[in-house]
Amino acid sequence: MADIIKLLPDHVANQIAAGEVVQRPASVVKELLENAIDAGASNVKLIVKDGGKSLIHVVDNGSGMSEIDARLSFERHATSKISAAEDLFNLNTKGFRGEALASIAAIAHVDLQTKLDGADIGSHLKIEGSKVISQEVSATPKGTSIAVKNLFFNIPARRNFLKSNQVELRHITDEFQRVALVHHEVAFQFYNNGSELFNLPIESFRQRIVHVFGNRMNERLVPVEEETEVLKVSGFICKPEFAKKSRGEQFFFANGRFIKSPYLHHALIAAFEGLIKSEMQPGYFLFLDVDPGSIDINIHPTKTEVKFDDENTLYAILRSTIKHSLGQFNVVPALDFEH
Ligand code: ADP
Ligand code: MG
Repeated sequence: MADIIKLLPDHVANQIAAGEVVQRPASVVKELLENAIDAGASNVKLIVKDGGKSLIHVVDNGSGMSEIDARLSFERHATSKISAAEDLFNLNTKGFRGEALASIAAIAHVDLQTKLDGADIGSHLKIEGSKVISQEVSATPKGTSIAVKNLFFNIPARRNFLKSNQVELRHITDEFQRVALVHHEVAFQFYNNGSELFNLPIESFRQRIVHVFGNRMNERLVPVEEETEVLKVSGFICKPEFAKKSRGEQFFFANGRFIKSPYLHHALIAAFEGLIKSEMQPGYFLFLDVDPGSIDINIHPTKTEVKFDDENTLYAILRSTIKHSLGQFNVVPALDFEH
């Protein structure tokens, strides 16, 4: 019998990996914004065209990369953020897998310009379908500019699977808002087809929420603040009378990262019990800070699902904290339940 197993070439492996990391333009936006934040940027600009299908461009004023790192950043498992398995349990960065840029470059045309702080000259790199087209020196400002064009150009089935520009833009806006809410210490600009959608200065968390969701938010917010040994909760909930039929404004940020947790969401619902009708949804913007060793972020490619060590305790703390905050602000059941 002949031996038939072979190692896939890198560009094929990258394309397969890309299927997991990049579902749609919004996934690229998430990865690029997170890289900009990890690079310590204080200003991040996002420019998209046609719902991200023709262009996703992120410009940051962060650390930038050396010429060699610029090239290496597109290799799979190439990361500056962790170096050993233990580091996975003490993460201070959004990224750690070193897969995003390799995946994106496997399925799009990428144009990167980057310069280290204090360097005389930067680099300009073009990659298409994992192939380096050119690498030159370039006079570019400090920081990184990365433009991703023609997403899924080499996977027609995936490209055809994308939704309308409007729907893709909606997904991009969701990702943008998630990152922009947590990182209110960073200024963001967001343009679609040349028109400005958001222009957010460096501001407080409360101001950022109001800036993102509109002035009407200002009177709706009730502050939440509680610190126990296992969990620190901070942020805002919306007063019960502003509960909505849809689940639009519900955000958990665990250790600075947007997460989805149906279980902890239920703790909120339980805290609002009796104050809102059962078909209504409370608004919340909550930071949940736990010991980095007690949360596993590495259970899903997009990192929005996480695993907490002691979820039952977190549930109980969260529910009583929210109840307490609601009580403190004299939120009485103003609802007239139909009798
Ligand atoms: P990860 O973020 O998991 O490390 P990525 O593929 O997203 O993996 O990025 C690979 C590496 O490229 C990062 O670890 C970082 O060193 C570098 N990098 C990517 N984007 C930027 C950026 N905007 N500014 C500076 N360095 C960056
Ligand atoms: Mg990354």
